[in-house]
Amino acid sequence: MAPSSYQAPMRGDTKEKRTVSQSVDTNLGSSTSTVAKILEKKGSNVYSVLPGDTVKTAVEVLKDKRIGALLVTDENGEMIGILSERDIVRKLAETPGQTLPQQVDGLMTRNVKTCAPSDPLVTVLQMMSEGRFRHLPVMDGGKLCGMITIGDVVNFRLTELEYEALKMKQMIVG
Ligand code: AMP
Repeated sequence: MAPSSYQAPMRGDTKEKRTVSQSVDTNLGSSTSTVAKILEKKGSNVYSVLPGDTVKTAVEVLKDKRIGALLVTDENGEMIGILSERDIVRKLAETPGQTLPQQVDGLMTRNVKTCAPSDPLVTVLQMMSEGRFRHLPVMDGGKLCGMITIGDVVNFRLTELEYEALKMKQMIVG
């Protein structure tokens, strides 16, 4: 029998508040780590092409460096666009058999979103999922200082979560 203090739920009762310690939001949101933490390990190397380079050249760099996107810079090194494998796939479908000789500036995205080393990881994940892209150049005081991917952020956070779980286990078990 239920204890006398027990009240069966009634229609119209508001739903009991549930803890959300394992929701994606809180797991990602509880991190105070920033983009700088990722760059500490990854370094500041950013691969780029010129707007007049051919798609063939860009594809070769993407393959050789095993990456998914390239920055497009002018001859002064100023960022003017970003070219990802998605742009190339789209063009391959639009112009079958004629894509490789085309110039990068016909495929690249011009309005490039960037982040700063001090940005929290949760902020950059939001930017990436809202903007539907997986690459973010990192700018520090107007200067390019790296490129992070959604994979970098998720991997970093997973490692952090594993460490937090281990610490908690040690606290409980002693
Ligand atoms: P991605 O998911 O990064 O391969 O890119 C998907 C699309 O978003 C492509 O058209 C890219 O050119 C574009 N894109 C990638 N990164 C950015 C960025 N940081 N800002 C704006 N557009 C981007």
